[in-house]
Order: sequence, then C-alpha cells, then structure tokens
Amino acid sequence: MPFSLLKYGLRKDYPFEEDADIPSAHKLRDSYDVVIIGGGGHGVATAYYLAKYHGITNVAILEKGYLGGGNTARNTAVIRSNYLTPEGVRFYGASVELFQGLSNEFDFNIMYSRRGQLTLAHTESAVSAFRQRAEINTHYGGKSALIGPDEIRKLVPCLNMNPAHMPVLAGLWHIDGATARHDAVAWGFAKGATQRGVELHQLTEVTGVDVENGKVTGVQTNRGKVRCGCVVQAVAGHSALMAEKAGFRLPITVYPLQAMVTQPVKPFIDPLVSSPALHCYVQQTGRGEIVLGSGSDPYPLYNTRSTLPLKESLLSNAVALFPFMSQLRMLRQWAGITDITSDYSPIMGLSPVQGYYLDAGWGTWGFKSTPICGKTMAELVAGGGTVPDLIKPFSLERFERFAQINEMGATAASH
Ligand SMILES: Cc1cc2nc3c(=O)[nH]c(=O)nc-3n(C[C@H](O)[C@H](O)[C@H](O)COP(=O)(O)OP(=O)(O)OC[C@H]3O[C@@H](n4cnc5c(N)ncnc54)[C@H](O)[C@@H]3O)c2cc1C
Repeated sequence: MPFSLLKYGLRKDYPFEEDADIPSAHKLRDSYDVVIIGGGGHGVATAYYLAKYHGITNVAILEKGYLGGGNTARNTAVIRSNYLTPEGVRFYGASVELFQGLSNEFDFNIMYSRRGQLTLAHTESAVSAFRQRAEINTHYGGKSALIGPDEIRKLVPCLNMNPAHMPVLAGLWHIDGATARHDAVAWGFAKGATQRGVELHQLTEVTGVDVENGKVTGVQTNRGKVRCGCVVQAVAGHSALMAEKAGFRLPITVYPLQAMVTQPVKPFIDPLVSSPALHCYVQQTGRGEIVLGSGSDPYPLYNTRSTLPLKESLLSNAVALFPFMSQLRMLRQWAGITDITSDYSPIMGLSPVQGYYLDAGWGTWGFKSTPICGKTMAELVAGGGTVPDLIKPFSLERFERFAQINEMGATAASH
C-alpha cells in the first residue's frame, strides 16, 4: 500500500474532508430546534426543504448508520404515480413532478430516467382493474392507458407473450414511469441541507424519546441527550419500534423485501416491466444490469437476509417473461425491512405526542415519494403542526375513522 494512502487513512479526520460536498458535523450539540431521526432519503429531504424553503437550519439529522444506508440504498428505484385512489394519484403525481426537476435544483445529476412502466394483465379481472386505474389516473391528471397485445409487442419486443401459460391480455402503460440513482437522491438532498447549516450526525442512534406532559422535549442517543422543539421520525422499517419509544403504537407490520441484479448486458428493454400475477418486475439500468424485484416475503420479520426460495421463484418467473435471461449470471441479491400498513398507504403527519411528527409506513413504495414527502413534512414542521392538504388523508387517525386509502392492488410487485 502506498505510504501516502496509509497516512491518509490514519489521519484524525479520516474519512471526512473539510471541503467535502456533505460537510460532516463532529460535535453533537445538546439542543436543536428540530431533530430528524433517520438519515435516509426522507429524513434528508425534509431537512433540505426546511433549510431551503423555510430558513430553518438549526436542525440535526440523527442517523444510526450512514447517510442513505437503509432502504434508500436497497430499493429498486421505481418512480411512478399510477395509483388507484384520488389521494394516492395526487400525492405521487406531485412527487414525480418534483423528481423531474431535481437534477437542476441540486445542480447534481440524480440520473433521472423516464422510460415508462408497463404492468401486465394476464386475467380478465386484472384487465378490468387496470381499466379502472387508467380512468382514475387520467381523471386526476396522471398519464396511464390500457393497451393491447400489439402495442405491448412494439414496446417490449423480447417479452414472452405467454409466460407460465398465462397469456398477456393487456397492459397498464404509464409513460411517467421512471428510475433515478437512489444514492444520488440522498446525496443531493444531504448536500443541499448540510451546506445550508443542517447537521448530519452519522453513527448516532436514537435510543429513547423524552416526552413531558404529552409533548416531545428531546431524544436520547448513544452520544448523549439532545433537547429539541420538535421531532420528525423517518426511520422506515424501524417505524413501529421508534414509535414505541415515544409511547404509542403504529398499525404497522414489518416484512422483508428482496431484490437482485444480474451482470450487465447490452440494452434490450427500455420500459420498466412488471407482472403482478407472476410477482415479478424487471428493469435494465443505464449500466446494462437487470434489476429484478418481487413481492414481500410472506412472513413478518426484522431481517435483511436473502433467501433461496425467493431466488428460485423470482428467477423462474423472470425467465418465463424473458426466456433469454436464463443465460445471465446473478451479481447480487439483498433485502430490506419494510413497514407495511393494512391499506398499503403511508402514515404522515401528527402523532399522539405533540411536536412528534410521523413519516412512516412507506413499505415497499417510499423511494418515489422522497421529494414530496420531504417538502410536505417540512411544511408541517414550519407550520407548527398545521397539516398540509396533500398529506391530510394519510394521517394516523384515519385507522380510527375507518378511512383507509387502499392501494394494495396498485402496489403489488411494482413498488
Ligand atoms: C428491496 C427493496 C426495493 C424497493 N423498491 C422500491 C421502489 O422501486 N420504489 C419505491 O418507491 N420504493 C421502493 N422501496 C421502498 C423504499 O426503499 C423505502 O420506502 C424508502 O427508501 C424509505 O425511505 P426512508 O428515508 O424513509 O428510509 P431509509 O432509507 O431506510 O432511512 C431510514 C434511516 O433511519 C435509520 N434509523 C433507524 N432507526 C434509527 C434510530 N434508532 N436512530 C437513528 N437512525 C435510525 C436507518 O439506519 C435508516 O438509514 C423498496 C424497498 C426495498 C427494501
């Protein structure tokens, strides 16, 4: 090893640099206006919008691992707004719009790539469900249409139109389907927030929440106590555990979700292709790798192990859709822990503890909402708890009112 590299590695401030894009905060102060628990995409996006649009910079993001190392790092980066409910279409549509301008806003390339998403219908009931989704999407300004086998063949010539003896009858074509580089999204938001004065504290785990007279007053961490005016909880798969520390329960069950990626090959598929009936979605990255995803594991578990049964079922279904893929080698398989609500919609807004705001229940679909989530959570904090209209339907108390927003069908194996 060259001596200079060894010397660099042994430096006191390694691996931090004073002029780094994302300045590192060394000292954890004992008080902040706002504490954000979780340095994933959602946490850093909230900090970014607070700093940039509301001038609130006395903010600490507390992350137990490293920036964007949770589900943000593990997701398959599908961005879309072809949901079923009016609330969902409006919310995810606003996120897609923000995504389209993020590279310019950051002056940093998040590799946003709009290539459309095709969801396959293999049964008559799926065709009629997709027709309904296309109508609702169009009504609320989304871009979705039901298309037939001829158009599908033109969009994806190498698709097997009769996979696993389930003929492709139609497809839901969503031109706004896209992907972006997930790390870059987290880095862009973190850069914009920290350069405006927000502190990002990595390796800082929140171990307790201090509540006095029903109001949050601070958090306990592995580096000491921190007082604060309010807290935003954005810890994805750990949402229910963190809420318990604040003294209440969330209607969330945790399931592992797995994905995998193949060796790179020449470009062969432009759109994102998904088959809910085969529990499988397939997309090709800009580098040529094929990313494969499925539904959640069928049991609640806090674990990020990859399993052989998932590998077998996902790969056999992917090969049924694209037979030539049997020739490819897998590079990696991984999993994340996802917090799933009973209606497959998020929980955003107020909690039973005053000043303790929730950004949870993002399950398998939260990457695409990163910008709009950050923007609306920042509005909530800056407004002292006035809930923005866009996220009002996603309140925790909807479960008490039996006002669930059912997006289960629109989430299945497409994320
Ligand atoms: C395999 C897989 C594929 C997916 N595919 C898609 C997709 O294609 N499209 C899509 O929209 N969504 C997808 N998702 C879902 C998406 O990844 C998440 O919903 C989204 O990343 C949530 O963002 P976040 O910032 O809330 O969470 P995270 O990125 O997980 O950030 C939360 C952070 O909180 C930290 N934390 C937890 N506990 C504590 C604590 N006690 N103290 C301090 N910090 C703590 C964690 O370390 C973590 O970094 C997928 C998920 C997985 C697992």
